[in-house]
Amino acid sequence: MTRHHNFCAGPAALPTVVLERARDELLDYHGLGLSVMEMSHRSEAFVAIAEQAEADLRDLLEIPDNYRVLFTQGGATLQFAAVPYNLLGAGGRANFVHTGIWGKKAIAEARHLFGDVHVAASSEGNGHSAVPRQDDIVLSEDAAYLHYTANETIGGLEFDYIPEARRPDGTSVPLVCDMSSSLLAGPLDVSKFGVIYAGAQKNIGPAGLVVLIVRDDLLDQACDHMPTLFGYRALSEGASMVNTPATYSWYLAGRVFDWLKHDVGGLSAMDAINTRKAARLYGAIDGSGLYANPITLRNRSRMNVPFVLADPRLDGPFLKEAEAAGLLNLKGHRSVGGMRASLYNAVPEAAVEALIDFMADFEKRRG
Ligand code: PMP
Repeated sequence: MTRHHNFCAGPAALPTVVLERARDELLDYHGLGLSVMEMSHRSEAFVAIAEQAEADLRDLLEIPDNYRVLFTQGGATLQFAAVPYNLLGAGGRANFVHTGIWGKKAIAEARHLFGDVHVAASSEGNGHSAVPRQDDIVLSEDAAYLHYTANETIGGLEFDYIPEARRPDGTSVPLVCDMSSSLLAGPLDVSKFGVIYAGAQKNIGPAGLVVLIVRDDLLDQACDHMPTLFGYRALSEGASMVNTPATYSWYLAGRVFDWLKHDVGGLSAMDAINTRKAARLYGAIDGSGLYANPITLRNRSRMNVPFVLADPRLDGPFLKEAEAAGLLNLKGHRSVGGMRASLYNAVPEAAVEALIDFMADFEKRRG
């Protein structure tokens, strides 16, 4: 059996030890004679799995007691709709910082459902190569909340600070963040946020699960008419089991949290590893004559490293030879082309070293 180095942007690599543990527990979970996939979500065994997952996530992120942790479905995309439905009940407008394709989709969905939105700042002017500074983020007087994308997975553009969400009159509004491709990459001050959401399939676990972290006071700001399953209050009161949850994804997410806590040693340790991996790859790109990354230094994503080759005719051979060398999924997103190496938590440092060696060798031969 060979496990190749997987740089996929999502669904992404999972820690090998997590998969091994899942394999060992697959047919007979803890002597119960059935797999987690086959048990009722209301069973004692699954409720214990669910509660442990939440407890471990709370521990890892030091989530304050006045926040609910919810496990839901529909991908991060469903939250593009659920967030405005949950937060615009008392009126006001959704405000956004636009830094790339995912932010743009969130804006489009809110506009589609609620009409007017306000774009408080955008990096479109610089081709999404640098995120707006705090002073450039100007909320509307009627802002109900400010939404931003911490890490733009396609562009490889990451915020290097947590924005403040204040209306021009100085009053603050909830900060909402799409952390699909950055949650758990390192420690986070959750208390700065009103709502955090993340599709699981990057740093959390398999696809089909969304993690939501919602401040208590935001459970009661919802519009009167919305699908029951969108509602943060309903999800919270139903312990994220309003309907049948994505039980196996939830279980595996719990195994990933356990791995982060006990094998990696927590999010500060993970943070240091992620910083090292990204520094190694950006260093190799910057030091080469063939590869280039367009993002301003302070906003380079640690999770998603896009790069282009000086001669795009080499893209095909690069990808083909990389795959033959066991380096998978390096093709950039179809909307932007080029290459992208995603370096999520489960991508080991050895994978990054193998990629760097391959890139250097390719440049020597073909560059
Ligand atoms: N936001 C970000 C930052 C993403 O990277 C993605 C998926 N790549 C999404 C939203 C959409 O997630 P999903 O496919 O789970 O709806």
